[in-house]
Amino acid sequence: RVGTTFLGCYAVEDAGAYTFIDVGLPGYWPQMTRFLAARSASLSSVKAVVLTHYHPDHMGNAERLRTQAGATVLVHHDDRAAAMRRFKPPVYPLWKPPVLHLVGHYLRNGVTRTAPVGEASGFADQEVLDVPGRPRVIHTPGHTAGNVALSLADREVLIVGDTLATLSLSSGESGPQLLPRFLNEDHDRALASLEKIEPVEARWVLPGHGLPWEGSPRQAVKLARQIAARTS
Ligand SMILES: [Zn+2]
Ligand SMILES: [Zn+2]
Repeated sequence: RVGTTFLGCYAVEDAGAYTFIDVGLPGYWPQMTRFLAARSASLSSVKAVVLTHYHPDHMGNAERLRTQAGATVLVHHDDRAAAMRRFKPPVYPLWKPPVLHLVGHYLRNGVTRTAPVGEASGFADQEVLDVPGRPRVIHTPGHTAGNVALSLADREVLIVGDTLATLSLSSGESGPQLLPRFLNEDHDRALASLEKIEPVEARWVLPGHGLPWEGSPRQAVKLARQIAARTS
């Protein structure tokens, strides 16, 4: 994992070749290169960037890895067009201190500098991607139309992106939960999509926002539904 408590991305290694699943904010670049250097891996050992969705905090270094490392960028078909054009931010409730804090962190780390990707290949639900680690796609629309989780069954890991967070970006509360309503394109659809990850076997749930969570997707979904019922 590379990143901060707010926002993380994940590298998967297979025989010296790497896939990054999400690539954080532009300001996380030095962390990513340090991560590779610590493993004596060159930039060109990054063969693929798999995006859980098109938001700029998840693809801040995608174009840089594509052009400098020669990595292939992959994203779900339904988010592909959005990943290839400039992002228009939503209206953030900046009167909430955790939101203001987060937006400050994002601006300091260059969120507005995230470049659209020049080229990306699309994938579909249940596809096993031919990239290091061979993640399996689980389409979980709602946060965005092409939002996905990625299962790495042999590593007992489910990378959920923004299907779930383990930290609230609006209240600061920790534990598995949906992203706040103002960040989901279709909140009800995001809630319904939890069904898709519920049966996945894994020991770790790795979110885009918040720290890794040890437990099964089934348990994480149960907790997220409880919070959703309380806050809806
Ligand atoms: Zn997002
Ligand atoms: Zn996010």
